[in-house]
Amino acid sequence: MRARRSRRDEPQNSDKMKAMMTRRDLLPSIPALMAVRSLKGADVVYQRFDTHTHIHNYFPDMIDALEKSNFKCLSICDSREIGDEKSTLPEMTEGTIAAVKQSRGRLAWGTTFDPRNFEDKDFTSRAIARVKEHFGQGAIAVKIWKNIGMAIRSQKGAYLLPDNPRLLPIYETIQREGKTLISHLADLNAAWMDPTGNPVGGKYYQDHPEWRMFGKAGAPSKEAILNARDRVMTKYPKLRVVGCHIGSNEQDLDLVARRLDTYPNFAVDLASRIRYLTPDSQRAKAREFLIKYQDRIIYGTDFNMVAGDKAPGLPGKHEQEWKILATNGAVPEKKGSTRGLDLPDSVLKKIFHDNAARWIQGIES
Ligand SMILES: [Zn+2]
Repeated sequence: MRARRSRRDEPQNSDKMKAMMTRRDLLPSIPALMAVRSLKGADVVYQRFDTHTHIHNYFPDMIDALEKSNFKCLSICDSREIGDEKSTLPEMTEGTIAAVKQSRGRLAWGTTFDPRNFEDKDFTSRAIARVKEHFGQGAIAVKIWKNIGMAIRSQKGAYLLPDNPRLLPIYETIQREGKTLISHLADLNAAWMDPTGNPVGGKYYQDHPEWRMFGKAGAPSKEAILNARDRVMTKYPKLRVVGCHIGSNEQDLDLVARRLDTYPNFAVDLASRIRYLTPDSQRAKAREFLIKYQDRIIYGTDFNMVAGDKAPGLPGKHEQEWKILATNGAVPEKKGSTRGLDLPDSVLKKIFHDNAARWIQGIES
């Protein structure tokens, strides 16, 4: 049996099995037993991390459930506003800090800053003071979001790119303090594609024209945004950078592989993109990718929970995605089912535990 899984959920079965089988009976059946993979993530003996959630309030039921499944989540504050929308960061930050305090060690958190006023004289120094204050309050990471590259513009109309000189001293601070930069930059390819061609994921951009780059004058290409991110990694080689959503190259694993080969300080999370890995046409290649880059891939969901949400769906999501990554069978989904990727135990442990501990230091404490 695999050491990773305690058999505490099946004491009766194993006791019965022992009683029924002599040692001589058992030996020939070992290969058959090895082939059976437990479907239950609940049997995993190590703590698992979900490094990409947005949980900004204390939800006692969810904390209880995380305790039961032995998951710990990184709750990340995002600065999502564009134009002159009112920032939600003050309540979000306060709520997150309070939730972490009450979470009995089940939540860690990441901070962010509002990049909209990047041309203000004191923008950089204020952002640095803010992230340092939050490091003092336990934040272990800083997030930058796709409004950098896709929405925020200078007074003159130029798009703010992630390697803008106004942002660099902030990254330098994150590097110096030993924290992690979490970057969701750019988006699905569909944002840059002609919607009449029905590109994969294109519906989102019909519903959210503010993120549709296709046909927008002066908008940078997807590669231009990601290349600007990559220049930050070159400039700060000791800065650990986690690219959300498979580094936004979820639709082209060759591209993300090339980046992982080029930038040793780059890792990616799987948040909300596992479905891009499982179609029959992708499955073998995706499995090979996950195994080859097993030290650079981190589990996350992008689960979002806001005040007023009742049913904590997160444990169900964890269990389902664990099955997809860990097993070879058909895993039921909302519509139909997905065949699991059947990753080796040693790779699963890295994706769900070791890599989070290494790339997002402080998540274990
Ligand atoms: Zn997210």
